[in-house]
Amino acid sequence: MPAKIIDGRKIADKILNNLKSKIKNMKEKPGLALVLIGDNPASEIYVSSKERAFKEVEGYCERYKLDSNIGELDLLKLVNDLNQNPKIHGILVQLPLPKQIDENLVTNSILPHKDVDGFTSVNLGHLMSGNTILAPATARAVLHLIESTGTGIEGKNAVVVGRSNIVGKPVALMLLEKNATVTVCHSKTKNIAEHTKKADILVAAAGKPKLITRDMVKQGAVVIDVGINRVNGKIVGDVDFENVREIAGFITPVPGGAGPMTIAMLMENTLKAMELANKIK
Ligand code: NDP
Repeated sequence: MPAKIIDGRKIADKILNNLKSKIKNMKEKPGLALVLIGDNPASEIYVSSKERAFKEVEGYCERYKLDSNIGELDLLKLVNDLNQNPKIHGILVQLPLPKQIDENLVTNSILPHKDVDGFTSVNLGHLMSGNTILAPATARAVLHLIESTGTGIEGKNAVVVGRSNIVGKPVALMLLEKNATVTVCHSKTKNIAEHTKKADILVAAAGKPKLITRDMVKQGAVVIDVGINRVNGKIVGDVDFENVREIAGFITPVPGGAGPMTIAMLMENTLKAMELANKIK
């Protein structure tokens, strides 16, 4: 029997509808600042979808579009202004940044309680110590998608392919926190299939189309595809969807899986950031 498809869009819509009803009854609206630098078409699409979703739930949104040759100091000044702005609870600086700008410096200039992406060292540190405050949205999305299948995580073998600070590592830490036995594969891993074949839960976050083929997947596994790749004008994931579907138990499509869920988690993080700001006040 082919795998059940995990409909990320449907799950995300349900979360967004709940958020919308909550926000409707609030006097103060959660505020998100989206900062986009340069003309990267993929970044433009991501920022526009986040803006659309945030307006849809009736949050307050400010969008900043900056020139690709902006200086580091000017960007840091904008982040500092947003840090001080009481209407803004969440700040999102869309990555990647132009070469002249130190990504780490800019990311860490965001106040941790406004860091709705969860990329600051402080929030990643909280995640590592098991005291999550604001966790990276994509990692939260992955966990949510796995949990939506009703398959438990505790005691399972989980394999994450990819070890970036914003996706692979946070996903691995969150799975570990849920008591999975976690293996992390990367570009230097020898014989990836040897690991992935043992995975009850397999998360692909490498950014390589068709990296995960049918022969690499255990029968009945939960397969979450985070990859977003453009191939001949089409968006595809890292998993050879049609063939892996024949053997997996559950699988996310691309598009329509981790993407919309990431946006929903980001909206939740912004609401949480507003609650944090009110606690600090
Ligand atoms: P990075 O390029 O930062 O990291 C990719 C990771 O995959 C690295 O750890 C790299 O290993 C590993 N890798 C690359 N090639 C291989 C390979 N052939 N075999 C095994 N591992 C490999 O990407 P991100 O983590 O930022 O993103 C990963 C994917 O997820 C991308 O397609 C991105 O577009 C997508 N994405 C999707 C989001 C969503 O909302 N759905 C959000 C964010 C990202 P090494 O460390 O050794 O270089």
